[in-house]
Amino acid sequence: MRDPKIDEIFKVAKDEDRNFLYEHEAKALFALYDLPVTQIHVAPTEDEAVEAANRIGYPIVLKIVSPQILHKSDAGGVIVGVEDDQGIRDGFKKIVKNAKAYNADAEITGILVQEMAPNGTEIIVGSTTDPTFGPTLMFGLGGIFVEILKDVSFRVAPITERDAAEMIEEIKAVKILDGARGMPPCHKPTLAEILHKTSKMLMENPEIKELDMNPILAYPDSARIVDARIIM
Ligand code: ADP
Ligand code: MG
Repeated sequence: MRDPKIDEIFKVAKDEDRNFLYEHEAKALFALYDLPVTQIHVAPTEDEAVEAANRIGYPIVLKIVSPQILHKSDAGGVIVGVEDDQGIRDGFKKIVKNAKAYNADAEITGILVQEMAPNGTEIIVGSTTDPTFGPTLMFGLGGIFVEILKDVSFRVAPITERDAAEMIEEIKAVKILDGARGMPPCHKPTLAEILHKTSKMLMENPEIKELDMNPILAYPDSARIVDARIIM
């Protein structure tokens, strides 16, 4: 039987008539699968956002949480590198203002306060549901690699750890992960583990129609999922 905490996450979304999970809900689900996510807190007020930022530690990233806004940057809903309490208060107001300008009807659930992950190599892991084969995993490098070069690999879930390792080796730009051209190398076993755990999560949660970890920031010894989206 799956963890009742998972049922609760999907129930809240269904009760609110949402067909997607907010970033913080998706990350709560990921954490139950031991996937590496950033520390987060949804703050309904400026004071609570300041409190959360101090608990998590600066620098901080602020993001909009609204049922009408799926792509947060498009709505001016992401501010990275906030350094102090005043920055949290200014950023909070700015994101609310931007969201209203983007969509006058946008309801604002709160502002997501999160730990800012250090710079790393941008990785994307995604999934779609194939009408014949079911949940299918995708792996690639972020930015132009996925958007322009479509340099990605696919596998139908469930996958083994070995399949995960193969998916990583299959992308054309794999040398970047090995640290080509002076780039720091990425820890491939961590990335394979993310794929493998995501596969398990997809198999156990048929509610997930589409999933997006975009980006995952990868480092020489670890990785961190900084954005997450799940369509139900
Ligand atoms: P969107 O909904 O627009 O995809 P993201 O959550 O991906 O919003 O944020 C936009 C960008 O901000 C990311 O691609 C990443 O570069 C940066 N970012 C977001 N969250 C963090 C974080 N916790 N640490 C560091 N950078 C982040
Ligand atoms: Mg994103």
